[in-house]
Amino acid sequence: TLSQRLSRVIKTMRGQARLTEENTKEMLREVRIALLEADVALPVVRELIARIKAKAMNEEVIGNLNPGQALVGIVQKELTNIIGGSLSEKEKELNLATQPPAIILLAGLQGAGKTTSAGKLARYLVADRKKKVLTVSTDVYRPAAADQLKVITEQAGADNFPMDASLKPLAIARDALAHAKRYFYDVLIVDTAGRLSIDEAMMNEVAELHDDLKPSETMFVADAMLGQTAVQAAQAFNERLSLTGVILTKLDGDSRGGAALSVAYTTGKPIKFVGVSEKIDGLEPFNPEGMASRILGMGDIVALVKEVQKAVDVEQTQKLAQKMKSGSKFDLNDFKAQLAQMKNMGSFSGLMEKLPSQFAEAASKINDEDAQKAIARTEGIINSMTPFERTHPDIIKASRKRRIAAGAGVPVQEVNKLLKQFEQTQAMMRTMQKGGLGKMMRALGGLS
Ligand code: GDP
Ligand code: MG
Repeated sequence: TLSQRLSRVIKTMRGQARLTEENTKEMLREVRIALLEADVALPVVRELIARIKAKAMNEEVIGNLNPGQALVGIVQKELTNIIGGSLSEKEKELNLATQPPAIILLAGLQGAGKTTSAGKLARYLVADRKKKVLTVSTDVYRPAAADQLKVITEQAGADNFPMDASLKPLAIARDALAHAKRYFYDVLIVDTAGRLSIDEAMMNEVAELHDDLKPSETMFVADAMLGQTAVQAAQAFNERLSLTGVILTKLDGDSRGGAALSVAYTTGKPIKFVGVSEKIDGLEPFNPEGMASRILGMGDIVALVKEVQKAVDVEQTQKLAQKMKSGSKFDLNDFKAQLAQMKNMGSFSGLMEKLPSQFAEAASKINDEDAQKAIARTEGIINSMTPFERTHPDIIKASRKRRIAAGAGVPVQEVNKLLKQFEQTQAMMRTMQKGGLGKMMRALGGLS
């Protein structure tokens, strides 16, 4: 963890009674790196470091703690505060205190998880809060989205108001509201259309819904895996709508929780729920302390790899070797981990030269910059897959491929190419499993 790492950094400083500019300098640099690696936006990192510094200066180091541990405590606390640790329970809860039906409007980019979250919220309200809930889709561009909402609304034990796709979104929502009033619903959940990137038409549409319906809750739904893109979107939506909260989805993936920090900081709005699975019950109240640890922990791993300047993360490689020895399958998560390692190595040509001679010729043809770009694109595609798809690549057929391609902003052919590449790597891994792995690992380990 970051704490262990920092403790190591300042071991020599044991016995110092105060945190000073001097003795925190190196540690703050580590924290900064950890945050950046966790995908926290730069302005947020700056602000956070400034706050930590202000808090830390002249803070007394109590008891057995060394200055590093004391600093980690401050970091943890400030991080937790920014993402909502100081909010009251009431501020974190859904606000339904209004003349029923209370309206919940969901906004966000396509693929963020709006429709899924609408179903999850419906389930939560029906099962846990004993509410009578109606859902409605206003996604007139994709009738399939309305069907999707209908299906999960039924799973949630709530009712769905059928979408008349010949009407405008606002007219549909008004009809649904009239129906909800007439039949005494407690809550109306309004799902909206999203686009792949922020555009005027989408903004106008959702702003119109917002201004007319005057929802009790206007929630921005953000995909935690999108990192910086999620932050930009949050900012754009927050400027046009008075958001009341955020739902951060796909935290079950290996997303770096940095997006949580940036989105909360940029919008100043509480993260009320997090999505932790594709399933209808995969919605949890947000836990700021847990998220702070996740951000620090995740960033630390990357920082550690950087610091040691090892081309290959030995621990990762060993884990992979262990996994293969135990006979389990090499999946897309492993593939992605490998790519991340390659990115850290920086120079492919350099690496390849150290591998057996048959690779040396290939190495001379590699352009490192192109290779880095290709890796980034490939990572983008894997990021657009659900965790289940990553561990079960076989299920990725035509419609999933289209969704993944759309999510990553690449043509479907690129997804095909990646899957092909993955299959080849998998085959290679299988061969190595039968003997060659030790040799390859030694070759990689010899680099520094
Ligand atoms: P929308 O375009 O914003 O309505 O997004 P959807 O609700 O259709 O979700 C897009 C994809 O993300 C679907 O494959 C969902 O199953 C998946 N998804 C949404 N939320 C989560 C989550 O919290 N965890 C996981 N694993 N998948 C999610
Ligand atoms: Mg949708």
